[in-house]
Amino acid sequence: MTMRLEGKVALITGGASGIGEATARLFLCHGAKVIIADIQDNLGHSLCQNLNSSDNNISYVHCDVTNDNDVQNAVNAAVSRHGKLDILFSNAGTVGRVSPSITAFDNADLKRVFEVNVFGAFYAAKHAAKVMIPEKRGSIVLTSSVASVTHAVSPHAYTASKHAVVGLMKNLCVELGNHGIRVNCVSPYAVATPLMTRGTRMKKEMVEKVYSEAGNLKGVVLKEEDLAEAALFLASDESKYVSGVNLVVDGGYSVTNVSVKEAVRKFSG
Ligand code: NAD
Repeated sequence: MTMRLEGKVALITGGASGIGEATARLFLCHGAKVIIADIQDNLGHSLCQNLNSSDNNISYVHCDVTNDNDVQNAVNAAVSRHGKLDILFSNAGTVGRVSPSITAFDNADLKRVFEVNVFGAFYAAKHAAKVMIPEKRGSIVLTSSVASVTHAVSPHAYTASKHAVVGLMKNLCVELGNHGIRVNCVSPYAVATPLMTRGTRMKKEMVEKVYSEAGNLKGVVLKEEDLAEAALFLASDESKYVSGVNLVVDGGYSVTNVSVKEAVRKFSG
């Protein structure tokens, strides 16, 4: 296998579970030194224990992305453990509460969702950029969502936060391009991670069934590993001239609108 991240150092927020975990595994396989930053300490430590060889290529740091100091500490950990930071995968996220209407949504929930999804991405990009700018290289990948490009039945706060992440990515692409740093988003359609099973109150198999049925691309189920592959592409030098892109991994869901097809079926008998 070609080692696509040989010699690179990657920090992954939200790396203890789901898409972040799958990406940590894949980055490690491709020769990167990986630091997982998360609030699920037991999960993070046991993942590192399971994956680690004697060379300590994967390690964990406690980091609440809503806390600027924690994020700075995570970036510092990457630099002190491995001498540099080449890749930031800002992926920690929360979906927040489902509210039936804008008239009834919870202000505290809105704040929490923005603190994790938006402030967390700002802090991560800020501290990563500080160490990447002097090196004049780096790749920053932010996890947004298919909800940034189309309606996907997510709560208002979540959808708005994921649009904000894409906005941040575009602005950063312009500023940091001057320093040789690329900035992109990866935007998943539904993956049956704990975030989705909790958010939908459905079991993993049911999430996959429902969202595959609603999806455009038939005969495939979207998995964490598929997002890890997209993040790997954006993190690696194979995408060395790709910046400012929102890579939507949705099997074409966002370019379809089945309601017309259904209306035609209904009225044509
Ligand atoms: P997940 O719950 O498996 O993983 C999210 C991780 O983020 C967890 O390990 C969690 O502990 C961590 N996290 C949450 N709050 C944090 C905080 N304050 N500080 C540090 N870490 C924190 O879910 P996932 O689906 O793998 O989510 C990863 C990203 O993908 C999120 O940004 C999510 O919004 C996005 N996303 C997921 C889906 C999906 O269908 N699963 C779709 C679109 C976008």
